[in-house]
Amino acid sequence: MTQRALVAGAGGFIGHHLVRYLKAEGYWVRGVDLKEPEYETTDADDFTIMDLRGPEACLAATAGVDEVYQLAADMGGIGYITKFHADIARNNVLINANMLEGAHRNDVHRYFFSSSACVYPMYRQTAPEVEPLRESDAFPADPEEGYGWEKLYAEKLCRYYADEGKVDTRVARFHNIYGPLGTYDGGREKAPAAICRKVVLAPNGGSIDVWGDGSQTRSFTYVDDCVEGIHRIARSDHRAPLNLGSDTLVSVDGLVDLVCSIAGKRLTKEHELDRPQGVRGRNSDNTLAMRVLGWTPSTTLEDGLTHTYRWIRSELETKQAVVRTA
Ligand code: NAD
Repeated sequence: MTQRALVAGAGGFIGHHLVRYLKAEGYWVRGVDLKEPEYETTDADDFTIMDLRGPEACLAATAGVDEVYQLAADMGGIGYITKFHADIARNNVLINANMLEGAHRNDVHRYFFSSSACVYPMYRQTAPEVEPLRESDAFPADPEEGYGWEKLYAEKLCRYYADEGKVDTRVARFHNIYGPLGTYDGGREKAPAAICRKVVLAPNGGSIDVWGDGSQTRSFTYVDDCVEGIHRIARSDHRAPLNLGSDTLVSVDGLVDLVCSIAGKRLTKEHELDRPQGVRGRNSDNTLAMRVLGWTPSTTLEDGLTHTYRWIRSELETKQAVVRTA
């Protein structure tokens, strides 16, 4: 029988890719979001514009499906999540509480929740050459203000619903997902997309601004690996949170250098020290994910960034062509 899935947040970056992945796996898919996907039409069988902060909307969205993939969230890059703690926390609490209850009332078999590496304590991320984060490191808690606290609490809510037999939940902690069809301007974009955009727009020999001193480190996960990982985690027997991230650590300056080499440009970096830069270092420990799934993300940063850079370049070229002919 055809499996029926709901992707909440299907108008967003990862949700849109996930809809495509599930369709290719043979699912019937309902997509729900406040907006349609920005850069491509959806592959969903049914796509409804809905505000998932309300209980009725969540009840309607989760009706008649076997699996729920909950990716809807008020979120953005470091500039956004460090500025709007109250809105982000309130909106996401409402979405996650009402979605779980809707899934429970509709007898959904499996519920996947997209958590974040932002749940990990700040005190473990104070140096660029950071120890990779294991799932058990999340406590004692000291997560990112606003967004991180909400994700950590939503993880707990998922566990309470599972332990009380209301709905069987799975949780992944995403580590910096990037790739084509992701936001690349407007203030919600993340570092890889922002850097690709700046490099596309800079003339060879020119300069680009880089937030922070450039030695802060991260690992970055290609979106194709992310959606495959989501599906593997949703099908696994593992109820506790699992890291879903690359374990290749790179500094922000290293990321800029890689994008410049993909673009074939020489650019000077101008570091803006007063801009938010987040934690000093963050990496994913994939030991548990490997044990549970027998799989971890494998796309190299160079390959993933090459696809991302080319997509952002073609988007910007199309926009500039439209402006020129207007
Ligand atoms: P995104 O912003 O592109 O997608 C989130 C979607 O949720 C958006 O399309 C937005 O319109 C929708 N949404 C927000 N409020 C809503 C509401 N009230 N009702 C219905 N829809 C609503 O973000 P993304 O990068 O695709 O992230 C997907 C999920 O993964 C989010 O839960 C995010 O917190 C999590 N995550 C992402 C990353 C990353 O690096 N991209 C890292 C960690 C966790």
